[in-house]
Amino acid sequence: MLRPTLVFTLLALGLPAAAAEPTLALTLRSRAAPPGAPAGAATEAKATWEPKATAIVVCDMWDDHWCKSATARVNELAGPLDAMLKAARAKGVLVIHAPSTCTAFYKSTPQRQRALDAPFAKTPVPLAATERWGTAWNWPDAKREGVLPIDDSDMGCDCKTKCEIRSAWSRQTAAIAIDPEDAITDDGQETWNLLTQRKIDNVILCGVHLNMCVLGRPFAIRQMVKLGKNVALVRDLTDTMYDPSRPPGGTHFDGTDRVVEHVERFWCPSFVSTDITGTPAFRFKAAK
Ligand SMILES: [Zn+2]
Repeated sequence: MLRPTLVFTLLALGLPAAAAEPTLALTLRSRAAPPGAPAGAATEAKATWEPKATAIVVCDMWDDHWCKSATARVNELAGPLDAMLKAARAKGVLVIHAPSTCTAFYKSTPQRQRALDAPFAKTPVPLAATERWGTAWNWPDAKREGVLPIDDSDMGCDCKTKCEIRSAWSRQTAAIAIDPEDAITDDGQETWNLLTQRKIDNVILCGVHLNMCVLGRPFAIRQMVKLGKNVALVRDLTDTMYDPSRPPGGTHFDGTDRVVEHVERFWCPSFVSTDITGTPAFRFKAAK
């Protein structure tokens, strides 16, 4: 039994008198070979991240895509991804929605304004300055990584009848809730401002497509690693643009697994959404 004066002191400090703060208990899988280990072997490490020092960035979960297969997979992924966001939010994680080139759709919302209002903070290294597909872009870093393990030079449509490339998206899919406490941005500086304002050290990436935007966008893996954040990928809540009739073959989902391994080897560890939700990891129906 706590003495009334102690309870009062804890309350005055804003501390809970009994229950412990929630944490994120993650099993981080990496392939960054430690000295003496064979290159590319997977190692797992337990990590405990403080939710209030953690953000989840939702990359390019658009309402539509020029590729019909890609659209169908995003629609399948959206529900489980939304469920993970709900669980993370309940623990105190900041959710940043990053539907690239679609922020104008949200211009009158408080969540978009939250990103615009975060005070300017100087980055420790310059942000990517070259542009691709409507935002700044972090190209593959030859000093750090080899070439991607899949051939996506045809842009990765894996439909029987090839889809025509066009701008198909105008917003994030409505299947992912944007809650009052969330933020919306597709900009590297705004992302950095939000993270600095909230003293957030840990950045979790999910969404699509891993071989393209989840690596290259200014809020995504390459940029966040270069800025010194602890970065991790939710490996069951992502997808690639990959046609398996191109090298190295196998299935579309084998291609995604190969890119996950590339990320684990050269950029950041990954974990499965089970670590946040307590429910089984997501699998696309066609991958089962
Ligand atoms: Zn297609």
